[in-house]
Amino acid sequence: MQTYGHFINGQWILSGEVIPVINKYTNENYAMIHEADGETVAKAIEVAKKTIERVELTATERYEIIMNASKIIEQRKSELANILVIEAGKSKKDALMEIERGIQTLIASGEEAKKLAGHGVALPNEHSKMAFTVRVPVGVIVAITPFNFPFNLTVHKIGPALAAGNAVVLKPAEVTPIIACKLAEIFKEAGLPDGFLNLVNGRGSIVGDYLLENPNVGMYTFTGSPKVGQYIKSKSGIRKVTLELGNNSPNIVHEDVADIEKAVNLCVTRGFSNAGQACISVQRIYVHENIYERFVELAVQQVQQLQLCSAENADADIGPVISEREAMRIESWIDEAKTQGAKVAIGGSRRGNFVEPTLLIDVDDTMKVVCEEVFGPVISIQKYASFSEAIERANNTTMGLQVGVFTSNIRNIMYSTKKLQFGGVIINNVSTYREDLMPYGGVKNSGVGKEGPAYAIQEMSEEKLIVLDY
Ligand code: NAD
Repeated sequence: MQTYGHFINGQWILSGEVIPVINKYTNENYAMIHEADGETVAKAIEVAKKTIERVELTATERYEIIMNASKIIEQRKSELANILVIEAGKSKKDALMEIERGIQTLIASGEEAKKLAGHGVALPNEHSKMAFTVRVPVGVIVAITPFNFPFNLTVHKIGPALAAGNAVVLKPAEVTPIIACKLAEIFKEAGLPDGFLNLVNGRGSIVGDYLLENPNVGMYTFTGSPKVGQYIKSKSGIRKVTLELGNNSPNIVHEDVADIEKAVNLCVTRGFSNAGQACISVQRIYVHENIYERFVELAVQQVQQLQLCSAENADADIGPVISEREAMRIESWIDEAKTQGAKVAIGGSRRGNFVEPTLLIDVDDTMKVVCEEVFGPVISIQKYASFSEAIERANNTTMGLQVGVFTSNIRNIMYSTKKLQFGGVIINNVSTYREDLMPYGGVKNSGVGKEGPAYAIQEMSEEKLIVLDY
């Protein structure tokens, strides 16, 4: 069985308590990781700091290394996708799609390396001075990543961070760390000098504080739950932070939707892909009362087509959720909604860590399955009477990452883009729509700062002003 430690200065260091990484399909041990102690974390940060003091890569060199990494990943696509199937419990198609998206995210990051530049600054009261800005690396960036897209979301952090010339200390989610360990090795093979990308393994509740307390870190980039995001913000002082957090994504389908079948298809396929474990998964659907019955009927028919994967067959549509504990939590939320009056239109059962794709109706906005983040294959469908009511109910949340709206009325489109309090408003597609180059990030408790390589590279570099007095 493979055991991974901590990747520091281009070498694996095997130290600290050993914890298992589970195969999410079989619940058997798949690999082992060591958990970093305070000394190991301090060493990783020290190495990262010394590396950027000692080595400066040109933008073209950074671009070439990132492109090399993307080519290695392309060649090893199916092997890497298989790791995602095992450690994250993905279906094969979701795993492959994630690797393919990660390649595109990397290529876009490499391209940004060559474009990063400051700009001229006007000094209207001066005769003999000129000013301009340059963009310089922040320094050491700590990247903390979640379990649900452990490849692409890691690439979204280390791609732009390295493109901007920073050194990185990565802490992957302890339940899905192996794909990140492979990435560290791939970057070394791609020609990244030792020390630019370091990785420490272990549980966030243990390793997190060592990372957060170290004064040599210039920035934290985090994707994960709002609870941990708030903790990181509270501990990081005045250092830079980007937080990509949760959502309970609403989607509005108005009576004038151009193609109801397309809307249903998108809601169902994108609500249940990755077993609903995406921060922008379709969770709450608000459907106009005139088309509600038809929408529910079509949605049930569509869900009937979906097949659960199994340990023998990951070729089907929906894999397990990340752990049996999470599956039980999701089941308990469904059961609680039922006791509060919700009806299961289809699904609703759990077997081990597999949860059936579930559609709930007769729900209300106070039920957990609606007002909190389910992070599982559970969608609720509610009816509304007026478009403004739907907008109000979509906004009635502490979160605000992305929202989908289906309408063919230009006034409704303009009204919704103005009124919806979300980082992204997706018209005639679902909240789950994401092209990796887009600016991506939430408002309210969904976070601060933007991802998408062109935006993340700005967050991960400082704008330095230069004034020349001649
Ligand atoms: P999580 O917050 O439990 O863990 C995320 C990472 O934080 C892991 O690496 C974990 O080890 C680490 N961590 C945990 N406690 C820590 C601490 N005290 N200090 C420092 N690090 C700590 O999240 P998760 O369960 O892995 O992922 C699910 C959550 O992520 C959901 O809420 C989801 O919406 C969110 N998410 C958001 C986005 C986005 O882009 N906005 C994308 C994917 C997932």
